[in-house]
Amino acid sequence: MTLLDGKKTSEQIKAEIAEEVASINSQGGKTPHLAAILVGHDGASETYVNSKVKDCAQVGFRSSLLRFEDSITEEELLKVVEEVNDDEDVDGLIVQLPLPNHISVQKVTERIRPEKDVDGFHPENVGRMVKGLPAYISATPYGIVQLLDRYQIETSGKHCVVIGRSDIVGTPMSILMARKSSPGNCTVTLCHSRTKDIKAMTLQADIIIAALGIPEFLKGDMVKSGAVVIDVGITRVPDPTKKRGYALKGDVDFEQVAPKCSYITPVPGGVGPMTRASLLWNTLQSAKKAFYLTESVS
Ligand code: NAP
Repeated sequence: MTLLDGKKTSEQIKAEIAEEVASINSQGGKTPHLAAILVGHDGASETYVNSKVKDCAQVGFRSSLLRFEDSITEEELLKVVEEVNDDEDVDGLIVQLPLPNHISVQKVTERIRPEKDVDGFHPENVGRMVKGLPAYISATPYGIVQLLDRYQIETSGKHCVVIGRSDIVGTPMSILMARKSSPGNCTVTLCHSRTKDIKAMTLQADIIIAALGIPEFLKGDMVKSGAVVIDVGITRVPDPTKKRGYALKGDVDFEQVAPKCSYITPVPGGVGPMTRASLLWNTLQSAKKAFYLTESVS
């Protein structure tokens, strides 16, 4: 069994990005700039945004953190999005989710200009991804593709079972794995809460991507020998033995599943760091105008 070391791989990717930023700067180019909007004081959201800001500093990006209270209205937030859209120095804009209930995530997502949508959530980027056009792909699925690629895991002709069909993880993941590309070219089964017999599906899988948010859902008897297992789940489970009072659990029962696998990601240290590196990669592509040359086509 080989551990898919997302931490090490993401550090390599970040070093490559930092090198490119240094080269852009030395040629008098513009330093890539990521802007993040955070509404409210949700603990997990604060942690995620702070990590993203820290990552930017590590690779030499500029970053701006725009913070607002829960009381901000939808209209006010949409106006902020438009201001950042119009700020020529900003290459990428992300809005940390969740948002308060009175603000429509859909409206905010669609207001971000697609060429600055480095989270890849705008319908235009999703559509471009589905069609195989250059696009910002949401960071978690893209990070997983990168991890498979860097470990040179053969995916062509394999049966990939994805568990979970969210807009930001499971659904784009299933599309990427089915795409006529490498990694890709899989036969994909997408499972969700209405799937009748998940075990019957996972037992056929060469590659399993678990993204449902139920700690240790995937057990040893659900996996065939030699499978590649990618664990996307991160759930905070109370643990009094830990200083912070909780432990992070994946969707895979690592103790049971790891001995049967050819490759497996740990939690933490697997998909999480790859997700963070992918956001930086998307922002660099935006700064280089790699996908959208001038104005959005929408
Ligand atoms: P989500 O929006 O809650 O979606 C969960 C999906 O799992 C849904 O499609 C749901 O089915 C399905 N599901 C729920 N219970 C199920 C069951 N018993 N059997 C089969 N499918 C079931 O979650 P998400 O945002 O995709 O996140 C999933 C997990 O990944 C969470 O633990 C999250 O914290 C983690 N995550 C990690 C990263 C990272 O960087 N590592 C990034 C994003 C998310 P229905 O559609 O039928 O409801």
